[in-house]
Amino acid sequence: MEKRQVIIVGGGIAGAATAWALAEAGMTDVLLLEKAEQPGVHATGRNAAILRTAIPNATLQALALESAAFYRSPPAGFSPQALVDRVGLFLTAPAGEEAQNLLPWVNHGEEVDWQEVQAHHPYLQHQTARAWHFADEGVLDVHAILHGFLHLAQAAGVEIRYRTLVTDLAVDGTQILGVKVAEITPLTTSATTTLLAESVVLAEGGWAGRLARQHRTSAPAFQARRRHLMVSAVDHAIHPGAPVVWNLGPDEFYFRPESGGLLLSACDHVAVPAEEGEILDRDVLSYVAEKALRWLPGLENLAAAHAWAGMRTFPEHEGFHIGPDANLNGLHWAAGLGGHGITCAPAVGRLAARLLLGSRSNRGQSVEI
Ligand SMILES: Cc1cc2nc3c(=O)[nH]c(=O)nc-3n(C[C@H](O)[C@H](O)[C@H](O)COP(=O)(O)OP(=O)(O)OC[C@H]3O[C@@H](n4cnc5c(N)ncnc54)[C@H](O)[C@@H]3O)c2cc1C
Repeated sequence: MEKRQVIIVGGGIAGAATAWALAEAGMTDVLLLEKAEQPGVHATGRNAAILRTAIPNATLQALALESAAFYRSPPAGFSPQALVDRVGLFLTAPAGEEAQNLLPWVNHGEEVDWQEVQAHHPYLQHQTARAWHFADEGVLDVHAILHGFLHLAQAAGVEIRYRTLVTDLAVDGTQILGVKVAEITPLTTSATTTLLAESVVLAEGGWAGRLARQHRTSAPAFQARRRHLMVSAVDHAIHPGAPVVWNLGPDEFYFRPESGGLLLSACDHVAVPAEEGEILDRDVLSYVAEKALRWLPGLENLAAAHAWAGMRTFPEHEGFHIGPDANLNGLHWAAGLGGHGITCAPAVGRLAARLLLGSRSNRGQSVEI
């Protein structure tokens, strides 16, 4: 039976970046499996696309800064278009303790007056807040990034199969043997077959932990949290090149220009099973609208033109879950990227690839970052 060096489960940004990074490191006998008809249809295709490197966790911030440098200057052939629109980002917080707590991780930004934030967004309410400006940050082209990873991986020899559901891990004692898969169409699911591999990387996004559940792995508990995004109707007061504004603290709220209106988030984070992670909750949309009216009193038309929801998935420990499983030899993780998976993807992919290739010679310790 055919045997691969590496099988990756999941064609979101985590799986795509890992496939690319493995190929970059010379490992091209890789098969990426995705249950959907195309890549990036879940969290990777449903996010706010904001590049924000100020993150309250030093390890994640390092991954974000490494990735931001990649996005500003990607390798030749990665994408014909720019990966980041550097409109800038303002991070704000209520003056006092909230803002004081930000100081250790916003110090690579420039502190500015609230008036400067309002100069770009004149409809924004007045606040007693502190603000930091990050001139090189802004809006990522998620489609170009995802397809850049996949294109370079495929060009190097990585194979991608869509409509392929991984139903279980194939395991012998403490050794991974591969995965069990079924081909799916809108109406049918085929019989299960086994695909063999030396190593398996789980990059299942909101489904993280599902396949490992029936086996003795060192997987932490993962939790998918639903977040809604809304795009408001076109309003000529909104400048399309205005910076992103992200207010932290108890009244967390962010917005940025999108399609003539504003893309808005009230930063909701209800824990849900993955099957419910993309279902709109009308009460939450009312909450988004209420927050938007309060934050943006100067805008005439805050009607919702479009809204959707997606999953931010977290491991029970702080940070991402990347690297070899401590119990099941050959099993690896690229999961739990929470709300920073697009920002951090190039560095996450390279870290996952480095840990996988390293552990093939030196049986792995589990890595929580
Ligand atoms: C509303 C919202 C706003 C966000 N905003 C930002 C932002 O501004 N900036 C930022 O950096 N990040 C943001 N994020 C976070 C970011 O979107 C995620 O961290 C990232 O997309 C996670 O990627 P992933 O590949 O782990 O998951 P996914 O993109 O969900 O990919 C996982 C894939 O695995 C597949 N899969 C699962 N199980 C199986 C199986 N058994 N067999 C085959 N395939 C399987 C799924 O079909 C899916 O395609 C946001 C997220 C949300 C929801």
